[in-house]
Amino acid sequence: MRLSRYFMPVLRETPAEAQIVSHRYMLRAGMIKQAAAGIYSWLPLGYRVLRNIERIVHEEQQRAGHIPMLMPTLQSADLWKESGRYDAYGPEMLRIKDRQDRDMLYGPTNEEMITDIFRSHVGSYKDLPMTLYHIQWKFRDEMRPRFGVMRGREFLMKDGYNFDLTKEDALHAYNRHLVSYLRSYERMGLQAIPMRADSGPIGGDDTHEFLVLADTGESEVFYDSDITELKFGDRTIDYDSVEQCQAVLEEFTSRYARTDETHDAALFNEVPEARRRVARGIEVGQIFYFGTKYSAAMGATVVDETGAKVPVHMGSHGIGVSRLLGAIIEASHDDKGIIWPEGVTPFHCGIVNLRQGDTEADAACQSLYDALTALGLEPLYDDRDERAGAKFATMDLIGLPWRITVGPRGLKNGVVELTSRRTGDSEELPPAAAIAKIAAIYGAIAA
Ligand code: ATP
Ligand code: MG
Repeated sequence: MRLSRYFMPVLRETPAEAQIVSHRYMLRAGMIKQAAAGIYSWLPLGYRVLRNIERIVHEEQQRAGHIPMLMPTLQSADLWKESGRYDAYGPEMLRIKDRQDRDMLYGPTNEEMITDIFRSHVGSYKDLPMTLYHIQWKFRDEMRPRFGVMRGREFLMKDGYNFDLTKEDALHAYNRHLVSYLRSYERMGLQAIPMRADSGPIGGDDTHEFLVLADTGESEVFYDSDITELKFGDRTIDYDSVEQCQAVLEEFTSRYARTDETHDAALFNEVPEARRRVARGIEVGQIFYFGTKYSAAMGATVVDETGAKVPVHMGSHGIGVSRLLGAIIEASHDDKGIIWPEGVTPFHCGIVNLRQGDTEADAACQSLYDALTALGLEPLYDDRDERAGAKFATMDLIGLPWRITVGPRGLKNGVVELTSRRTGDSEELPPAAAIAKIAAIYGAIAA
């Protein structure tokens, strides 16, 4: 993409309404624009990152064997009356009447709808196990929408639902989700720690929240610092293997890690003092096993091997897709701007032309651009007629992990400059070597 032809309305001033760094940088980098309290338009740059996060979530869910689909944002109230949650949900639910005076709502979650789909089409244990998921906009009329996309009213969520014959099978689905979530967050450059949580209005016994440590997090968390050493890394796992998924769950949940809702001071004190940490965290996902709560209430049953009709065991599993942009920025920035992890960056690298209009510099930039594009990479070429300082400031603000700087002086010696946004380190090397290095970096992180 050429910056001169792109739409990226960068703000010079720090917007007064933004209290936390991720919100400030998302507004300043022209990624989002508020449409109403807690409701945002995704401008082109923000939209690219949102799509990258979605893609990682899709890939990891499908790798785990979960089936993508799409349910609508608007729902009829009837199913919610059947489950008993229409009255229970409270003022967070946006209730709407259509022209026929029918009760509708903008879905805050989809347990009822998916249970209805399941009961309409599945009747035999032979069709199980099954996990369906979608990535769809949700609406929760939060009392205090704030921090930009972190606590919106309309937000994008991946929600998945498992249907299993037995509790053991459903717990395997739970563990599978835990593994797939660990992989997803790591691919986004994040460490998200699974913490024992409280099940809240969804109900259920087994639940973990995934928290990204950040001072601006809304949850208080208590953990054993040993847990931050754990990495899923590039190990391979057989998602069908009960033992393998169970082993990962045990590895990642055996250390003390809880939110304030489930914190147990006595248990925490058993952690050696030097490893006890009290910090703040951002919830970026949650997994639940809730048994037959919805299936029993709504008649989602299957015939088992003996011919008996039994309610299926279910769980639901959510990732805060739009919140993740804020969480990633909170975890990865400096005083100049965002530092995108390679896995989600809106463009793979920036090209800065120090002397726009100079025949050689223009030609060198164009050939870098063409070569990177031919390799399937997406560079952002700052081809504006601007001072070098302004171009660098924009690149630093929008946070592309790599920048190639091209100027007449370097070209005389046959080199361009390659700079890492994270470390600030620069090296001079021939254009072909810069291209090879960037290609190798992204080749290495491709799943
Ligand atoms: P919270 O405690 O932050 O209100 P929740 O526990 O009610 O969230 P879940 O029902 O677990 O939310 O939803 C799954 C994920 O969706 C959460 O882990 C979070 O990342 C995201 N999410 C929930 N509410 C919001 C919101 N208002 N804005 C953005 N993302 C949200
Ligand atoms: Mg939650």
